[in-house]
Amino acid sequence: MAEQYDIFVIGSGPAGGTIAARCSEAGKKVAIAEERGFGGTCPLRGCNPKKVMAGAAEIIGRIRDMEGSGIVPGSRIDWKDLLAFKRSFTEPVPEGKQKALQKKGIDTFSEGARFTDSHTVQVGDRTLQAGKFVIATGAKAREMDIPGKEHLIPGEAFMEMPEMPDSIVFIGGGYISFEFAHIAALAGADVRILEMADRPLGAFDPDLVDLLVKSSEEMGIQIHTNMGVQAVKSEGDRLILHAGENGSNVFEARRVINSSGRVPNIDGLALERVNVEATGKGITVNEYMQSVSNPAVYAAGDVAATPFPLTPTAAMEANVVVENILNGNSAKADHTGIPSVVFTLPPLAAAGLGEADLKEKGIEYEKKFSDTSEFFTSRRIGLHHSASKILLEKNTGRILGAHLMEHHAEEMINVFALAIRLGLTAEDLGKVIWAYPTATYNLNHL
Ligand code: FAD
Repeated sequence: MAEQYDIFVIGSGPAGGTIAARCSEAGKKVAIAEERGFGGTCPLRGCNPKKVMAGAAEIIGRIRDMEGSGIVPGSRIDWKDLLAFKRSFTEPVPEGKQKALQKKGIDTFSEGARFTDSHTVQVGDRTLQAGKFVIATGAKAREMDIPGKEHLIPGEAFMEMPEMPDSIVFIGGGYISFEFAHIAALAGADVRILEMADRPLGAFDPDLVDLLVKSSEEMGIQIHTNMGVQAVKSEGDRLILHAGENGSNVFEARRVINSSGRVPNIDGLALERVNVEATGKGITVNEYMQSVSNPAVYAAGDVAATPFPLTPTAAMEANVVVENILNGNSAKADHTGIPSVVFTLPPLAAAGLGEADLKEKGIEYEKKFSDTSEFFTSRRIGLHHSASKILLEKNTGRILGAHLMEHHAEEMINVFALAIRLGLTAEDLGKVIWAYPTATYNLNHL
């Protein structure tokens, strides 16, 4: 007889872990399967370890920015020590997370799960059944189908390189490439980003992206656009890349990182056996985060075909799934104003709509652009490029979008996330008394 559960969760990241824990707390019989280490991408090979490393890089960058203004440069990153420090955060996670789930009475399985029919999954040599399934398997690095692909290492492996090579090429100009490129450059590597489109960071405001490109180039990072990589080959201890039209541009590096994108982790699930519809963007769900083709299956996080594949989205969608499993479909996912940040130096952050979205939707708006590079908040730390762009609904002044590239943008964007989510206006923000001297005080210029 197969073991029976109320709910079977596949994947233990921010989405799956939350759903399993909350459903068990509500008295449901829950099991969870995890094939790589409990905790998922964010704490093990994503946000958290990256922020630890970016934090070290920021110190080096800020020391350099203050050279001649009272700070004597000379510090450097010791990659091995930094790796050990990073591991002090990641290594305890899998065991700690698994034990925490078990303590809540959840059966945990450290193996991949695969559907065999609409009530059953296979986990190793066990057959398990459940009334409801939650797919929370996240995303994985997109494999590149080019000659020499075996020489590429996936983005997340950057944080496990035993040493910092003298030169690195990042394929793809997305947020992960930019963040790692800044870390690598500040750790002393010769860094290039090769982007196939005509500009990198396509999801972010183009004017601010141009500024970030300028900052990155001044840091020594070379950014090439319209430069799709066609082939990679190994010559001694170097890798040779052919990129751009007909592969006529040649680059050389010690390591090449494939950060060309992430795709939903659905290949091994045998979704066809459980009639769960999916596209290249992930599992197709309705507003209740329920599969459109099988009502016994919910999906949440990066694996669902919803916008903003980020940890806060996974947590929000997970809470929607919990409400709907426990109380019947009642809670709806709302992706309004989810903030996203590129943790570079300075950071680039966005919440809400961009100008292109507003034009496409035919919404009339007013733009407040500020070059903040001469503001006290930038000058006092030697930051040469910084700016903000706030988009307000015409006539009402409602905040529709915020785009920041400045010191503490990663924190300030949360003010805008709140404003957008609650439908606040520029006038509302003007009523708040902000602490001085802080980056947020600049909101008085709105
Ligand atoms: P995941 O955290 O990916 O968890 C899914 C889990 O499912 C994985 O552990 C996987 O092993 C498991 N799994 C897959 N298939 C199976 C199977 N068949 N059986 C059992 N288990 C399975 N987001 C932010 O908000 N801020 C950041 O700064 C940020 N930085 C990032 C940096 C990097 C380098 C990366 C890669 C990602 C980053 N993200 C960031 C994204 C963030 O990590 C994800 O959005 C988040 O982890 C999604 O959570 P999830 O639960 O949907 O999926």
